[in-house]
Amino acid sequence: MSEQLIFMNGEFVTKENAKVSVYDHGFLYGDGVFEGIRAYNGNVFRLNEHLVRLYDSAKSILLEMPFSKEEMSEIVLETLRKNNLSDAYIRLVVSRGPGNLGLDPFSCKQPNVIVIAESLALFPKELYESGIEIVTVASRRNRSDVLSPKVKSLNYLNNILVKIEAGLAGVPEALMLNDQGYVAEGSADNIFIIRDKKILTPPGYVGALEGITRNAIIEIARKKGYSMEEAVFTRHDVYVADEVFLTGTAAEVIAVVKVDGRSIGTGKPGEITNELLQSFRDLVVSDGIKVYDPKLNVG
Ligand code: PMP
Repeated sequence: MSEQLIFMNGEFVTKENAKVSVYDHGFLYGDGVFEGIRAYNGNVFRLNEHLVRLYDSAKSILLEMPFSKEEMSEIVLETLRKNNLSDAYIRLVVSRGPGNLGLDPFSCKQPNVIVIAESLALFPKELYESGIEIVTVASRRNRSDVLSPKVKSLNYLNNILVKIEAGLAGVPEALMLNDQGYVAEGSADNIFIIRDKKILTPPGYVGALEGITRNAIIEIARKKGYSMEEAVFTRHDVYVADEVFLTGTAAEVIAVVKVDGRSIGTGKPGEITNELLQSFRDLVVSDGIKVYDPKLNVG
């Protein structure tokens, strides 16, 4: 296999040479933004939506992107081509760049732009068949009016604390509430609940990231004629749901079969969850920006 190449500030370098300064404020302070994107069968799923979120996040923290969205789109595609990948997880990182030791971002003159593409380490297949168990953790989602969850920043400590609690409890994901005790999301996934065929997911202002997978599932569910609403709900609503599932770029759609010791529905992945997962997988292999045929991407 040829060596993995990583895009760094306009050039492709080997993994060994892909290094940033210890003065980078991304490293010193978590000052920067990122995206996790996926390619399926040579199609990058919702690349434009990911780039819109990235550029919105950058704008929100006053980080000037050194490439246009169009250039960035081409950089992502070129990273896949250079690594000969059709199915991949793509990590796009834009840090504030090297500055002095103080907090002041104005000391950072040039952001670091990095694109890493790797073939996927998926959740084990069995987990999609069995579903997963989650627990509610004590860590709360940071308040939307303090640091908006719409900003996908390099400051992920809130989510990491959640992941630590999940790991200590021996489960792969967790349920995170917001500061008022309403259900927000997982550590890196959005949550959906289904009762009597009605599907609910928390709105962004409750503390959920507006996930690209989440939005795709909302569209799919509505197209299929399901009642699909964004709504504020509590843990009780999760416990008594017929089905619960999580969505995310890495997780796709994964059933949750136990929450805080309560079995959800039949204790197995539900019918609607499986139907939505299947539709999502049908969508991603055909829908998206083509990696290997740029002509098709025009317009
Ligand atoms: N919430 C958080 C906190 C996340 O980090 C992610 C992963 N990006 C998600 C939800 C799911 O979003 P997406 O479907 O865009 O991957």
